[in-house]
Amino acid sequence: MELTDKVALITGAASGIGHAVAARYARAGARIVIADLDEKAADAAARELAGDRGMGLRMDVTHEDEVNLGVAAAVDRFGTIDVLVSNAGIQIVHPIEDFGLAEWKKMLAIHLDGAFLTTRACIPHMYRQGSGAIVYMGSVHSHEASPLKAAYVTAKHGLLGLARTIAKEGGRRGVRANVICPGFVRTPLVDRQIPEQAASLGISEDEVVKRVMLGETVDGEFTTVEDVAEIALLFAAFPSSALTGQSLIVSHGWHMD
Ligand code: NAD
Repeated sequence: MELTDKVALITGAASGIGHAVAARYARAGARIVIADLDEKAADAAARELAGDRGMGLRMDVTHEDEVNLGVAAAVDRFGTIDVLVSNAGIQIVHPIEDFGLAEWKKMLAIHLDGAFLTTRACIPHMYRQGSGAIVYMGSVHSHEASPLKAAYVTAKHGLLGLARTIAKEGGRRGVRANVICPGFVRTPLVDRQIPEQAASLGISEDEVVKRVMLGETVDGEFTTVEDVAEIALLFAAFPSSALTGQSLIVSHGWHMD
């Protein structure tokens, strides 16, 4: 699958999964826009992965003006947006009775407001040209729940609704929307969770990895950033609207639908 000369904007791509998606898209021929809270890292990643076919942007996906201005700057530089990957995300874990309202709102803002704002800013450019692909970074937690993750599970389930709605609204205008649902991937987001979950659940870090994170997989393996990037390429480059409104789980069989 190729993305020759397509313009792809990937949020949260200075690190982890987003970075691997940007790398895969660049190898498939795309021009890439890396939008992240961390401007220096976004610039460095864009340069490293795509040279002058890359652009780094400071963007807080929860901030309406930053999203609109960032998308406008990308369109100014490259002419359009063909692919949006709404990927930026964080994790906060607490039992529900200890979940602070501010932390709850922060989680929903990054995962859901971020997906909404970036979609709303990019989709007019896709409609103008009659084609585009939107990829939301869901999770196995778009289909499954785990203790301590009320906000994350709620937000990731919400992305399914958003993607299906955009798929229906965009269908006749050439825009597809799909959700990738990875299992645990060893990124900074997951590395931070291991000691936190060990403390909350009163078990060792090794047990968190082997039992909580990988216990339900078919082979005890982490999903890799490269695994997720291949699915992101499939969703971005698929040639027709036959593939829209879907979610695809890539989790070593942790969750089977
Ligand atoms: P990561 O921490 O490695 O990267 C997240 C990136 O998002 C960072 O570069 C960070 O600066 C950026 N970011 C955070 N808040 C932002 C904001 N408000 N605006 C713009 N950028 C922001 O994490 P990751 O594991 O690569 O996670 C990426 C996505 O994948 C998230 O949506 C996460 O929920 C999802 N996911 C991760 C896993 C996993 O196991 N790692 C599994 C399923 C889904």
